Amino acid sequence: MREQYLQEMGITRWVRREPDSVVVGNVVPEPAEETTEVELTVVQTPDSHMVNELDWPELQQQVSDCVACDLHASRSQTVFGAGYQQADWMIIGEAPGNEEEQQGEPFMGQSGQLLTAMIEAMGLKREQVYITNILKCRPPENRDPVKDEILACHAFLRRQIELLQPKIILLLGRVAAQSVLDTDALMKDIHGKVFKYKETEIPVVATYHPAYLLRAPGEKRKAWQDLQIAMNIVSGEAT
Ligand code: SF4
Repeated sequence: MREQYLQEMGITRWVRREPDSVVVGNVVPEPAEETTEVELTVVQTPDSHMVNELDWPELQQQVSDCVACDLHASRSQTVFGAGYQQADWMIIGEAPGNEEEQQGEPFMGQSGQLLTAMIEAMGLKREQVYITNILKCRPPENRDPVKDEILACHAFLRRQIELLQPKIILLLGRVAAQSVLDTDALMKDIHGKVFKYKETEIPVVATYHPAYLLRAPGEKRKAWQDLQIAMNIVSGEAT
């Protein structure tokens, strides 16, 4: 069964690889990739003390009602997250796109199909993991999230992590990786390493976003190696 999913990922051979290193904290920053500057006015920031008290349904309601950044004005609905709320695996992407906003779930469409193949290649089902994004509202024109939006939305993500207490956080793509790890380092320097989520002991591994892998299928092998690092952590073969 796994071979079938590996074939979908364009991978025909299992390659085992140990983590390059264990890093606690941030990696050495490098110049950020070029991004489009977008002016933004933050209306308000969610009260993090209040968010910290919320259970799953209350948190989801709080996200639905949120007007903390300008993205609330153009959204048709928020995309909170989906999956098993006691999962070992938490997978975090960037932000909902058009299809995700329409369906109210993260990682739909072709990217979602590839992500499902990646999850199944690891011997899991999609409903056994929890999937969300750093932003719960869709940025217009699929542009990258800006810093103020990420800051405004982070209290929700942090509370999701607290509630879930995953054994591993898997970050998909540069924006999610730089945001959660609070670094400007590039993906080539982030992936393949093991980090910790802020002041916690929760291990974090970053890999390439499925949308990027669809454009650059030659990178799937590197992504599979990253997934194996994360699998080894969850199985206790690596720390
Ligand atoms: S992106 Fe996050 S902070 Fe901004 S309005 Fe949506 S839920 Fe609120």
